[in-house]
Amino acid sequence: MNDDLLDCLVIGGGAAGLTAAVYFGRYRRRVLVLDDDESRLKWIPRTRNVLGFPDGIEGPDLLERMREHARRYAVPTERVHVEALRKEADGSFVAEAGGRRWRARFALLATGARDVVPDVEGFDGGLRAGQVRFCPVCDGFETQGKKVAVLGQGAHGLRESLFISNFGNEVTLAGDGFAGGRRAAGLAQLREAGVRIAESAPRQIACGADCGVRVTLQNGQVLEFDTLYPALGLAHKHDLATALGARAQPDGQLEVDAHQQTSVEGLYAAGDVAVDLNQIAVAAGHAAIAATAIHNRL
Ligand SMILES: Cc1cc2nc3c(=O)[nH]c(=O)nc-3n(C[C@H](O)[C@H](O)[C@H](O)COP(=O)(O)OP(=O)(O)OC[C@H]3O[C@@H](n4cnc5c(N)ncnc54)[C@H](O)[C@@H]3O)c2cc1C
Repeated sequence: MNDDLLDCLVIGGGAAGLTAAVYFGRYRRRVLVLDDDESRLKWIPRTRNVLGFPDGIEGPDLLERMREHARRYAVPTERVHVEALRKEADGSFVAEAGGRRWRARFALLATGARDVVPDVEGFDGGLRAGQVRFCPVCDGFETQGKKVAVLGQGAHGLRESLFISNFGNEVTLAGDGFAGGRRAAGLAQLREAGVRIAESAPRQIACGADCGVRVTLQNGQVLEFDTLYPALGLAHKHDLATALGARAQPDGQLEVDAHQQTSVEGLYAAGDVAVDLNQIAVAAGHAAIAATAIHNRL
């Protein structure tokens, strides 16, 4: 192992991890970012709700700018997947990746989350073409006057359909309905909001630059939309923390206090891994709070 004791290990180099890197760099702390380069920022066709970019900015471009910002303060990054995080008897943390190890007094987990994707043919092509979208909080505004499909199940599909129907568009819920006694109440809510319900679940999606999203249902019916939102939820990447005993909520997000510390002393969490409002602004805010709290304890 590298015997060097760093101030903090930042695991994850997306919006939260890189914001923390900038704060730590400006606090003149010795930190290392460990990142395996799977930020959700890479999937954003163009974000329009990040302050300072009134014309929007493409996700990969924003990520590169964030990396450049952290480099200005000479914060080092290792492109690795952290396999394990241990806590030593003296309270320090050791991260392990590919036979290498790094040690620090504190650890900040900024590992993000993974979108749950449906098992539907053609899904990845739609995502790459930008017609399949994951985040109505981010880009519901752009669906005004458009035909939108929500591919969701149960209460999640219901909530997301109702949320999206607030943007002056035409929404269809295509999914497996809702369980048990909540079904009738859910249907009434959808009807009131003007949301249509497809007759069966989707089997195949086809997209092109100018054809929108063509959804073929299990019953053979073909429906055309401008945009499709899967509403199957997120998997929070919390394993490194929960393996150390950190508490997570039933949906998987890590529990944190007002300073972003998890239930494990010295282990902090920021961004998508610790919240259900998955936004760049929230990730940055978390990271600023966490980095400052850690700095004040060093
Ligand atoms: C299609 C799409 C559109 C979106 N549009 C918007 C938008 O317009 N506006 C907005 O505010 N938000 C948007 N979001 C959400 C936004 O991308 C996230 O909220 C934000 O990236 C969260 O930052 P984060 O740092 O928590 O996670 P991420 O940016 O995902 O970064 C997490 C990093 O941790 C790394 N990591 C995970 N586990 C490990 C490990 N074990 N070892 C090493 N590294 C690891 C990952 O590879 C990744 O680089 C969108 C998301 C998607 C998918």
